[in-house]
Amino acid sequence: MKRLWMLMIALSVLIASAPVLPQITGQVIVRVTLDGQPTDALIFARDRFGKLFIAYTDLKEIGLARLTLPQERYTLIVDHGAGFTVKPFAQEITVQIGQTLSVTAALQRAFSPAREWGYYSADLHAHSTASPDGHTPIEQLVLVQLAADLDLVFISDHETIAGHELFAKTAQARGAPSILSEEITTPQGHWNAYPLKCAVTYAPGKTPKDYFAQARACGAQVIQANHPAGVGDYFALLGTELFDDSFDAVEIFNGEFDQGDARAIEYLFRFWNEGRRYVAVGTSDDHDWLDFRPGQERYGRPRTYVRVEGELTADKWIAALKAGRAFATYGPLVNFTAQEGRAFPGDTVTLARGQEIALRAEVLVVPREAAQERVLQSAQIIKNGRVLRAFSLSEDRAVITLTDRPTEQSWYLVRVIAEDGDQAYTNPIWVEVRL
Ligand SMILES: [Zn+2]
Repeated sequence: MKRLWMLMIALSVLIASAPVLPQITGQVIVRVTLDGQPTDALIFARDRFGKLFIAYTDLKEIGLARLTLPQERYTLIVDHGAGFTVKPFAQEITVQIGQTLSVTAALQRAFSPAREWGYYSADLHAHSTASPDGHTPIEQLVLVQLAADLDLVFISDHETIAGHELFAKTAQARGAPSILSEEITTPQGHWNAYPLKCAVTYAPGKTPKDYFAQARACGAQVIQANHPAGVGDYFALLGTELFDDSFDAVEIFNGEFDQGDARAIEYLFRFWNEGRRYVAVGTSDDHDWLDFRPGQERYGRPRTYVRVEGELTADKWIAALKAGRAFATYGPLVNFTAQEGRAFPGDTVTLARGQEIALRAEVLVVPREAAQERVLQSAQIIKNGRVLRAFSLSEDRAVITLTDRPTEQSWYLVRVIAEDGDQAYTNPIWVEVRL
């Protein structure tokens, strides 16, 4: 009550003393299309001093954004795809007091992994306001993922499925397949389980085995070890009786790349050398759609692409992910095949003794945010955890090939690095040698 009185006094002072409150802002209306169709987008307006204003196109009026900005000159960037598939639009604008400026951003898709290769993307770790530490409203979580040009939308809140119903309804209205998950958050580790029909609950004294059993009973096809060598550090339990190895996927990229991710890759190579075929995934673990401070997570970056044959459904995508038909990436796109397109990541190629495996990868990268051009720096073919061959690259796309004659059970993957450090790892193609 006391606060209300103070507010009323403050307001009356403000009204009495401000007969000529200057209007110092103007409007910018942005219309965004992708290949001619209205599309969801993220808009950055950066003023001359580096101050950043963030907006998104409307959830219901697709492709339309309205910004109110102080009078100033700005670099306006309209982004769809988060630097994966579409070159962003950039324009210098000047906002005048009381005036409305109209901008049309006609974006074009630079590359479609879905159309060209059958690869569809999702961000397999994404929080909404249903998480105690989440700041992205549930409906907007659909919007930001569509603006990032993800093909499926995904939700995983800490210890709750409270967002599922509204998220699924919003996704359906926008024609996007959705995957409903939860981040099981415990002192022993964090795991995303999906798809989920019911909640998995934390309780002191429960073991990873108990959580996994509960998640499977709720329909989970995939249990994903989240930042397993970082926060939560599930892999610290390796070698103890608490460690349950019946999970399916491992985050090798969680948000911007750090030491925890590098350690997760080392663990995963060790598992693969032991023949344990966990699937490598990349996820943002973003909590806030408006926070773009340097180093912050960004929905859709990194992400996981999965190869699906025929029409895309969430069930087919999840089954293909579980089979390892996937790559994790911060930007570079890669189509890795063997034996003239007959084998893909996740597949096993059986060779007679002395027979060759012929590996091939098509790799490319698209410009990101303000960058007008972006090129690749290198690619590697990794065999059983070691670099078998490194390729120096200098264009925005390339095809690499290599033949090898393995003498024992082996696995091969492709790692691609762009000039700005953004990288991708495919999942392995497995080889068995008949003796
Ligand atoms: Zn999380």
